[in-house]
Amino acid sequence: MSWKDLFMSCPAKDCSNTDASFWSHRSCGSRIQINELAELRCSFHRNSSNIFGWSFGCSKHSDHSGKLDYKEPDRIKLLAVLAISLKDKGSELDDEWVIMLVMNLRKKN
Ligand SMILES: [Zn+2]
Ligand SMILES: [Zn+2]
Repeated sequence: MSWKDLFMSCPAKDCSNTDASFWSHRSCGSRIQINELAELRCSFHRNSSNIFGWSFGCSKHSDHSGKLDYKEPDRIKLLAVLAISLKDKGSELDDEWVIMLVMNLRKKN
């Protein structure tokens, strides 16, 4: 099992933001990572759990003060945005890891 920095656009339902970016943990600002079991963790807190149990905030859903409204990922959208970002980073990833991740994503939720 290995961890990679999470890089994708926002997976929240009905979010129109298509800019892919790295993600950081709300409480500490450290980078979020993903493994092939479809779990996320904060690189500082090391609190790994099912990706569908996390919520995601971006500038497209924030209140007037700029505070982000965190939303659960939409299953179909999550698969799509991850597939796009994995394709972009294809050269750095091994096939085995990607296949495992896709299989595990399908099993979860
Ligand atoms: Zn953290
Ligand atoms: Zn969003």
